[in-house]
Amino acid sequence: MNQIRRTDETLLPAGELPTLQHYIDGAFRAPASDETVAVVNPATGDELARVARGTVDEVDTAVAAASAALPAWRETTPKDRADLLFHIAERVEKHAAELSRIESANGGKPAMVADDDVAGTADIFRFSAGAARAFTEQGAGDYVADHTSIILREPLGVIGAIVPWNYPLLMAAWKIAPILAAGNTLVLKPSEQTPLSMLKFMEIVGDLLPAGVMNVVTGRGSVVGNRLSEHPDVAMVALTGSVGSGQAVATAAGDSLKRVHLELGGKAPVVIFSDADLAAAAEGVREAGYWNSGQECGAGTRVLVHESVAEEFTKLLVEQVSSFIVGDPAAGEDVEIGPLVSQGHFDRVVAAIDTAVAEGATVAVGGGAVEGAGYFVAPTVLSGVQPGTAAASEEIFGPVVTVETFSTEDEAVRRANETPYGLSASIWTTDAARAIDLPRKIDAGTVWVNCHLVLANDVPWGGFKGSGYGRDLSLYALQDYSRTKHVQINHARK
Ligand code: NAD
Repeated sequence: MNQIRRTDETLLPAGELPTLQHYIDGAFRAPASDETVAVVNPATGDELARVARGTVDEVDTAVAAASAALPAWRETTPKDRADLLFHIAERVEKHAAELSRIESANGGKPAMVADDDVAGTADIFRFSAGAARAFTEQGAGDYVADHTSIILREPLGVIGAIVPWNYPLLMAAWKIAPILAAGNTLVLKPSEQTPLSMLKFMEIVGDLLPAGVMNVVTGRGSVVGNRLSEHPDVAMVALTGSVGSGQAVATAAGDSLKRVHLELGGKAPVVIFSDADLAAAAEGVREAGYWNSGQECGAGTRVLVHESVAEEFTKLLVEQVSSFIVGDPAAGEDVEIGPLVSQGHFDRVVAAIDTAVAEGATVAVGGGAVEGAGYFVAPTVLSGVQPGTAAASEEIFGPVVTVETFSTEDEAVRRANETPYGLSASIWTTDAARAIDLPRKIDAGTVWVNCHLVLANDVPWGGFKGSGYGRDLSLYALQDYSRTKHVQINHARK
């Protein structure tokens, strides 16, 4: 079992908390209600702060502010918006250490994960700044005699953005940057469990943005998120979250027929063939299965390995996983695995491991909760997992990788595709033809070959099936956050 590192150090002294209010119409606003939600340090279970439970009226005020800001904002040129987004990236970089510490303290993220989140946040603002200026439509053309067609790309309007706790700042940035780049205004709801980095972000960049262009309302999904989803003046609601929340959002959005953009859960298969470089695959799963303590929608969490190399691969993986440094993120920059985000989530992950064992899986390493304060689960490998069991098909979202075996390529593809999710997958092989052919047969929005969880802001991210629809990142995100208009001009001379 890995040693747990603990400390009395704190990453977020009370004096460094952000302003604990909503950010509406260019300023922090005192909440209307005294009702609050506790924000906890998951490494200790201690309360860090309490944030407001936003009300329906507060969402309506924020949407009104975003609507009022829209006419001027949508008329800005791509260059104006790009300049502003570059400024945001610079501010994020200037305050990187502060943002990273907040992310670690509130999310239990090891410094290496939090630093990566902040760097990714700055980069998506830079990418979106450039993309705003490169985002052109096909030129004008004549398709009917004496008529010229012009295709315009317009912002959608006010966007409601709802984000999860696993990457509080980064998932928000994946929404904010392209939404603003495409000329929309927005109201964003952070997760009630991890709102601190977004409030700090507004402290850091609020003065750069015209009032109302970006608003933040904290609180519950069932109130704030639901109101954004049903609000008649919101043109699109974009959610990153669980399948259940995606269904609730899509249902609430139905009456107003607003657009819905959903980045939901995943259960990424890691398909390892007998010709693969097994050591590289084990190292790849060490990184991709346990990054952010496995609280990662694209995590390489479900290994399908050819039966002839299963024993050897499992041994290599167990060696890799046994070397993790587990602990409080405040206990050193080399901590690799932190706690899970909350008591509730910890309970779910421990129960999922227990269910897997009850359904016949073998604990190869780890296997459950770590004694003491905080929500720590030991990095775990479960081998001998049977198809059709919960461990093989349901998202666990913790530091747990399951290992199943297959005997033929057709079986591997069928089993890789048999979960309700379709976000991402990887294939490990040295056969060039297989490496090119097989990704086409896998039902996932991203398929990696001989790597897993390698992301870039230039390329699209999003799922199929139960993992949702719509694309984050890349020019495809700007497309999703805009609409196409055809203008037909009659220029016949009478
Ligand atoms: P969650 O669904 O519980 O919460 C996500 C957000 O939705 C929160 O802000 C929450 O308050 C809000 N919400 C909850 N109920 C709502 C409702 N009825 N109406 C409107 N909003 C509502 O998810 P989570 O536990 O915070 O995050 C983990 C989930 O997110 C996992 O399933 C993970 O796979 C998924 N995720 C997906 C991606 C992706 O890119 N596909 C990225 C990160 C996380």
